[in-house]
Amino acid sequence: MRSMLLVLTSATLLLAADVTEEGARWWSHIQVLADDNMEGRNTGSPGHRRAAQFVAGEFERAGLKPAGTSGYFQAVRLDVRSIDEPASNLALVRDGRAVPLALGEDASFSLRADLAPHVDAPAVFVGHGLVIPELHIDELAGLDLKGKIAVFINGGQSSIPSALKAHYSSADVRWKAFQKAGVIGMASIANPKSMDIPWERAKLARLNPTMNFSDHKLVESEGEQFAIVVNPANAEKIFAASGHTFGEMLKLADADQPLPHFPLNVGFRSNVKLGHSRVESQNVVALRPGSDTKLKNEYVIYSAHLDHLGIGQPINGDRIYNGAMDDASGVSSLIEIATMMKEQDLHLKRSVIFIAVTGEEKGELGSAFFASNPTIPKKSIVADINMDMYLPLFPLKYLEVQGLAESTLGDDIRAACKRAGVEVQADKEPDRNLFIRSDQYSFIKQGVPALAFKFGYTPGSPEEKVAKDWLKYRYHAPSDDLNQPVDKPAAADFNRILLDVGEHVADAQDRPHWNENSFFKRFATGE
Ligand SMILES: [Zn+2]
Repeated sequence: MRSMLLVLTSATLLLAADVTEEGARWWSHIQVLADDNMEGRNTGSPGHRRAAQFVAGEFERAGLKPAGTSGYFQAVRLDVRSIDEPASNLALVRDGRAVPLALGEDASFSLRADLAPHVDAPAVFVGHGLVIPELHIDELAGLDLKGKIAVFINGGQSSIPSALKAHYSSADVRWKAFQKAGVIGMASIANPKSMDIPWERAKLARLNPTMNFSDHKLVESEGEQFAIVVNPANAEKIFAASGHTFGEMLKLADADQPLPHFPLNVGFRSNVKLGHSRVESQNVVALRPGSDTKLKNEYVIYSAHLDHLGIGQPINGDRIYNGAMDDASGVSSLIEIATMMKEQDLHLKRSVIFIAVTGEEKGELGSAFFASNPTIPKKSIVADINMDMYLPLFPLKYLEVQGLAESTLGDDIRAACKRAGVEVQADKEPDRNLFIRSDQYSFIKQGVPALAFKFGYTPGSPEEKVAKDWLKYRYHAPSDDLNQPVDKPAAADFNRILLDVGEHVADAQDRPHWNENSFFKRFATGE
């Protein structure tokens, strides 16, 4: 708790403080993290290690204590998987005749699984491939899937609550259900309407190595022999022998109709040559101890991911994927929030952990590792406030919050936004599954209530176009760099709100809890 005098002082300071100045300071950390000499901060790379050193130094400067396993660092050991594409191939087999599929054009291997060297198996279309026990949805029911490859279109009917859809669409959960039905591999086709990155650009990433835990107990894709993503523009040939067309399926999906399930009367044949190596990469973990004798043993976590994609396929002659917004912006906010806590001399009752995680782009690996092997008692983590690519590209009038309706943290963020005169918005595009697509989900899966954010806008506004264009042109592209227009004062507004919400959660009498009707509550209660 702060003394009255400090309250007045910091309030005055806050009012007088210049968001332009704060925004510039926030940007200055990004200038370091997203500089070309950090080489895109790929997990396990020297650039990532340099970035981790920088963050540890800033955490120290903000008065935070080391809270890793070795100073500020917690090492995560990872297996690296890469594909030798010229030595690999994929074909569609129809009536015993193999028709080659062009890698990168028709489909790409997904390296999320430890693909088998050779697979030859029939394919079955399973609609959206969703199995959701609580809604009695089982798109695999009654199908003969033993030893087969399940082909599905991403998404699902709008009547399915977004949290459920997101959870059951996540690759690992989906795989568990497929595996139970006897499936040996999967082919996913994106609905072109909900593709974040156009295929022409997305296909470049197929050559990037992927990673998973060296500790196989933590790997959830075990047993998956085959995984491809299909270019929707060329998906028709997979349906050619089925008596149905892909166009017909898309039309049904877009009209929110249920999709039929049927054998495709073709099979996939694959030969895959993988390369394997190992790396170690660091989470950076720091602590601001709480002031209350009892509550200081509980922890509010602020998280953001330090890693990005490293050096990859060139786009417009640029090979460095700097990741300025994704997610140097969030890491910089960690530094700023910690710094403001120090400047305002906050004495929060609960302790606060600041963590810059590694391996997010490889499947939220660093956060999953920390959440399952925390350097503080697991049960003492009360909340995760995650900041990933929140996109301060225009003034902060609306804050879109993922997880808004799921826990009491929703009330906390509403209150903080109200104090700041910012309007809260719920997730506008639940089909993009954002609540499970970043590090907060690692904590949610351990039962911890969490929030995630995006700068919001109203439909049809110029801001909507700015945000959508950003995804189309800069998301996971080398142009997410220091030469892009960013609204720095708006980022400072965001940082203040995020400080405010964490401050209230850290000082509240009770720890946050999941709402009674929240889907995610099950992870906390083990139901
Ligand atoms: Zn990313």
